[in-house]
Amino acid sequence: MIVKSICPFCGVGCGIDLEVEGGKIVRVLPDKTHVVSKGHLCGKGSVAFKSLYAEDRVLYPLKREGEKFVRISWKEAIEEIYIKLNDIIKKYGPFSVGFYGGCQNTLEEVYSFMKLARALGTNNVDSCARVCHDPSAIALKEMLGVGASSTSVVQIPKAKVLVIAGESTTESHPVISQYIVELKRKGGKLIVIDPRLTGIAKIADLYLQISPSTDIYLFNAVANYLISNGLIDENFIKQRTEGFEDYKRVVSKYSIEDAEKITGIPREKIIEFAKLISQKPVIFSWGLGLTQSSGANGVRALVNLALLTGNVGIEGGGLIVYRGQANVQGSGDLVKPNVFPNGKMDELHALQLKEVWGFKPPIQPGKTVTEALYGSNLKAIFLMNFNPAKSFPNRKVVEKFLSSLDLLVVIDSFMTETAKFAHYILPAAMWAEKEGSVTSLDRLVKWRFKAVNPPGEARPELEIIADLARKFGFNFSSDPKEVFNELKEVSIYSNLNFGEMTDYSLPSRYPQNDEVLYREKFLTEDGKAHFRPVEQPKLSKGMILITGREVTHYNTDELIVRSGFPEIPLEVFINPEDATRLGIKEGDEVEISSKCGSAKARVRLSRDIMRGVAFAYMHNAEINYVVCNDLDEESKTPKFKYIVINIRK
Ligand code: SF4
Repeated sequence: MIVKSICPFCGVGCGIDLEVEGGKIVRVLPDKTHVVSKGHLCGKGSVAFKSLYAEDRVLYPLKREGEKFVRISWKEAIEEIYIKLNDIIKKYGPFSVGFYGGCQNTLEEVYSFMKLARALGTNNVDSCARVCHDPSAIALKEMLGVGASSTSVVQIPKAKVLVIAGESTTESHPVISQYIVELKRKGGKLIVIDPRLTGIAKIADLYLQISPSTDIYLFNAVANYLISNGLIDENFIKQRTEGFEDYKRVVSKYSIEDAEKITGIPREKIIEFAKLISQKPVIFSWGLGLTQSSGANGVRALVNLALLTGNVGIEGGGLIVYRGQANVQGSGDLVKPNVFPNGKMDELHALQLKEVWGFKPPIQPGKTVTEALYGSNLKAIFLMNFNPAKSFPNRKVVEKFLSSLDLLVVIDSFMTETAKFAHYILPAAMWAEKEGSVTSLDRLVKWRFKAVNPPGEARPELEIIADLARKFGFNFSSDPKEVFNELKEVSIYSNLNFGEMTDYSLPSRYPQNDEVLYREKFLTEDGKAHFRPVEQPKLSKGMILITGREVTHYNTDELIVRSGFPEIPLEVFINPEDATRLGIKEGDEVEISSKCGSAKARVRLSRDIMRGVAFAYMHNAEINYVVCNDLDEESKTPKFKYIVINIRK
């Protein structure tokens, strides 16, 4: 039997065919019909089913007793959690409780989890989208109307130029490479901006090796050059945008000469970049290299360039956000502490939700997950497939906070580093053991089908959430289709239908089923795009650590190491000239330290990394003892890609 599904790893959302024999998945094959992946899969996707059969799945509800966990029944688990949670809410109020979810869950699961929080009277809800692309969502929503990619990866071959900032698609989103290869075959140009000569940078027509976190300076200086040389789209600016004069005034201070000094990129390359993007159509795309260093303002600076050159809302032009996890776009769309799924957090939207939910949510903004975990006074936290004890920066602070809680409930399939701090662990069904929808990085929403039963007493999250809600007197559906129909009523997903979502050969994008958004108008209140001038902030000096991905690994590697890939050692890549200056050589063991902590790593020398910068893979979470929890002021996203460090032998 073949069951259609979507790869559980990255935001490309490749279509897969699960071959099921005797109630077990035996093979994963690429779905040749899938509208984006078109029969391609990377190494991770092809072994995606293996972690389902890991020996250390959590099979029963577990309760902490001293240092140990003991098996309890579902009935006991739900009853005890209800009593404890009720006591905490009575004593400290509902805002002492937080609900934070990962981005592997389906749209229906994150929606129900968020709704449960609000049913209990708290807006402390968030997802791991906070730590990656919330800066993108904030900037895009405010400037264009929707906090998501304006175009699709399938449009890449239609572009004359593709700009990739702070992302290596060859490592992080491998299946997209087919479109980039096609772009180049057709004569299109690829520009890559990164402090590291990554896999994708190696095939770039123009590679800009940029000093970390100086992107805003580069983009503003390029804007000034384009304006000064008449290389802008005046008609587009006049007819479809607001705020150009303010923007022009701000960028007029940014010169190519200073950009060369600040970014480290030679002047002639900056000018070549400016000239290349003054054409049409151009796609501007970016990854965590931009959001986890320059934050929301970094994204604004790049989006401003797309508006300046009239490259939004056209065939082959637009903006692509390289989202990390399978449903991180969807989680970010539906779950935020300061916004409701149907719009602003105000009385009007709360009353609209009451019509559908039967209760009115509170209208006081809650805490982001980073605010919650770094020094809040929350007493109880629910974490759903979320592993911040491993994935968050400054791990010691996170560990201390998790161990201080009166109640920590972890819904997960494995005994993760985070689950070890829990009072209760509720075993969850994994992706192929249930059904529901996920949103890819280019707004494609597809329905996953159930292939096999979960092991032991593991249950789909919708059932767990509905049980908890029922204890508090709320009637939540645990049927994924019913929940999807409900979330359509109160969110940006209202245009979707099951026929298109379940047929992988058809496009099924929101908020319009079109690869390209904003062809006629922007989805802002006035229908215009808005320039947002931003300034380059002052940067701390010193050796800068940045982190990134490796092609066969994935985030905290919980799934990957259970799929047969070995754990990744902690290595730090530095330029040979820095190594000479520091008196270290290839293979040495060094201590990397920051103001937050330290870790031991093996040195690897590489000319691919620019001088003054060190690189480590994010998958070995020891590095998160070094990465600090400095947050982007606006989005509260950690700056994983700008950490001042010392390295010593
Ligand atoms: Fe899965 Fe991403 Fe690889 Fe596609 S590119 S198979 S979605 S990990």
